[in-house]
Amino acid sequence: MTTFTPDSSIVSDVIPSANYGDRAKSRLPDMIVLHYTGMPDVEAAITQLCSAGTDVSAHYIVLEDGRIVQSVPEARRAWHAGVSSWSGEDDINSCSIGVEIVNRGHDWGYPDFPSRQIAAVTALCRGIMLRRGVPTHRVLGHSDVAPARKKDPGEKFPWHSLANSGVGHWVQPAAIVRGETLKLGSIGDDVRDLQQALARYGYGLPATGKYDGLTMEVVAAFQRHFRPARVDGIADRSTFTTLHSLLSSLPAEATVIAAK
Ligand SMILES: [Zn+2]
Repeated sequence: MTTFTPDSSIVSDVIPSANYGDRAKSRLPDMIVLHYTGMPDVEAAITQLCSAGTDVSAHYIVLEDGRIVQSVPEARRAWHAGVSSWSGEDDINSCSIGVEIVNRGHDWGYPDFPSRQIAAVTALCRGIMLRRGVPTHRVLGHSDVAPARKKDPGEKFPWHSLANSGVGHWVQPAAIVRGETLKLGSIGDDVRDLQQALARYGYGLPATGKYDGLTMEVVAAFQRHFRPARVDGIADRSTFTTLHSLLSSLPAEATVIAAK
């Protein structure tokens, strides 16, 4: 791709990526998916996202010092989500804007996100939400849309501080207390209810009534985003309460979309 005019006025550089296509059925993006780069070397991460043949890209790359690079125009389909699903839709690349946040990730020590970087991600997302009409509850992590494969942006990502600026759906997580849990191997209606509640929120999870490996991974993804104090894939009281507070604070139209 030749160079292009950035969609956002806070972009500092345009580094065009070779990896992009058309959005399916001219789908307008109404979701933002946040990632971390997960590589020790920033230059190598940018090269990977922009060079022909790697088959990966994102619309934006947010550096640790808060500078923002755009590499795919928002109108085009970037290749960031891979096999994924949310609210019954599985071509997430066609319906979303992908934002890569520079961070080494879980495999390389997983440092904290600097506050300048978080301020830049917040400002960028606010602009996209306004321009594209992205609802608050459709600002998600890669781990939300691909829970069996991905952990990014991870439990250190400060979703609560983005939510203070109106970016992303958030409720105060319920306190962790001792009590009954559902976990790998549990079977029954309680498990089915949990699976249905997670699916109603958007997670791609069939209601089988069996707490299998996928259920554990979806619960862990939920915790990574919404109850980061403990990410263990075990559905405890705090996980249930937090999930149900989120469901009851979704805007009415969101529940309708999710129930389709
Ligand atoms: Zn990712």
